[in-house]
Amino acid sequence: MKFTRFHKIYLIVVLLFILTIGIYDVRYKMTNQQDAGSSESSGSQVVSSSSQSAVVSSSESAEESSDDASASSSASEVEEMLALAETITTPVAVNATTDQAAADMATYSADYADDIQTYTVAEIADSVATTLGLTQEEALNQLLADLPTDVDLTATQYQMVNKLNPLLTEPTMTFAYAGSGKPYNAEIEPAYTALIDAAAQAGYTLAVISAHRTIAYQAQNIQNGYNSYLGQGYSEAEALELTNSYYAPAEASEHSTGLAFDLLGTEWTSVGGSLDDGYASQPSAQWLADNAQDYGFILRYPEGKDQITGYLFEPWHYRYVGVEAAQYIHQYDLTLEEFYALVNFSDALSQ
Ligand SMILES: [Zn+2]
Repeated sequence: MKFTRFHKIYLIVVLLFILTIGIYDVRYKMTNQQDAGSSESSGSQVVSSSSQSAVVSSSESAEESSDDASASSSASEVEEMLALAETITTPVAVNATTDQAAADMATYSADYADDIQTYTVAEIADSVATTLGLTQEEALNQLLADLPTDVDLTATQYQMVNKLNPLLTEPTMTFAYAGSGKPYNAEIEPAYTALIDAAAQAGYTLAVISAHRTIAYQAQNIQNGYNSYLGQGYSEAEALELTNSYYAPAEASEHSTGLAFDLLGTEWTSVGGSLDDGYASQPSAQWLADNAQDYGFILRYPEGKDQITGYLFEPWHYRYVGVEAAQYIHQYDLTLEEFYALVNFSDALSQ
């Protein structure tokens, strides 16, 4: 057979086609290897799926404008995000409705400067980044991607009461009553009942040691405690220090919201156990720590977060925030204070 010009051209086209396929295949394999490498380094399934969704959403927004413009605008968007993360902090005086109230709260909080500090969103992201093996920017993107949407921080379930956000007036509410007769906010009756029922199903009877307390009751509580220390022979200064260590100041007790419960399993109370951190190793405490978020409750004062919350570890104190917020807070080992900062951060970014 004669090798014609047509045959030569045909052969060249076929070779080029095979070469193109080969190059495409090699590049495809390399891209996949990079993807696999990045998800291995990111620590967990949750991390890799969320960081992929963050990548998807950033590339989607990039497609909206032309290539060059989008590259520079997304770089400046990242800069803006990182700058904003340095300025938004855990909340201060959020209950103040006037300048005077804010000033009164600042005076109040000054007495507790050693107990509680503010943290920036950047610091919160650094902490999450360290835990998950991410960069600060990756942690911020992931925290934003997973944050519940349309959170209204003025809703009852997010009420913030701590030493930087004291109550100046007594919150009012309709009460429901726990099995032991302890009052709490009736708005969360279905959630509270579901939590107690689920614990019972798992084999744990939870005793409500305390639920709602008024500011006045807490003030009396503190006075009784102080008097009791004096009665035990402590000096006035010692009695005051002990009281401050073991009693929440009257205006900074979350129990005033009716959303908080001090819960102890009867396996602990039946052997004389009380509100001390030895409770943490009891099976009912571990069940609460692993499951309360699915009923809308968070461990409000986690271990190692006392400079953020203003309170030492309390394995018995659970607080209602709603299922979405509770699951998010649980997933990232956050506190309500940090959740506040992240919601404010997200809102500021979208403005
Ligand atoms: Zn409590």
